[in-house]
Amino acid sequence: MFFEHLCLSRPDAFRLQAPVRGLTGGGWKGMTQQLDRQQIVAGLNQCLQAPLVDIRDIYGMTEHPLHYISCKEGHFHIPAYSLFSIIGADGKLAAAGQQGLIQLENPFFASLPAQRLLTQDLGLWGERCSCGQPRPYLRYSGRVTTPEGTCAAEAL
Ligand SMILES: [Zn+2]
Repeated sequence: MFFEHLCLSRPDAFRLQAPVRGLTGGGWKGMTQQLDRQQIVAGLNQCLQAPLVDIRDIYGMTEHPLHYISCKEGHFHIPAYSLFSIIGADGKLAAAGQQGLIQLENPFFASLPAQRLLTQDLGLWGERCSCGQPRPYLRYSGRVTTPEGTCAAEAL
């Protein structure tokens, strides 16, 4: 939210000497009001004029034991010890580039019988990311539910 506010306020650009690195989480759940992630990163580059503006995101949830850090392209590469699927509207596995519900699978979560989790998050998958990482990736698109309808929001 602060990143978006900085971009929208359009302060005079200032030149930073050191790289700027940011890590965001929570899927940008309704936090941004006017700009999408790509517009915010572009705005930060224009405003900060740093040698590097590297904004990464964390994707994860309480019901799944891993957190994924995005690459510079904004993709979440899935490590070899975890599995994922994209489930299409027809309930079948979606092909690369086709949007559907993100399903995560990992054997580390032994305290609950929840090794396979069908999320309420929309995304797609792909291979051969331009970042050079060889593993397949997820690209998060958004939630099926509103941010106010998440379990975290309902706990408040
Ligand atoms: Zn990548």
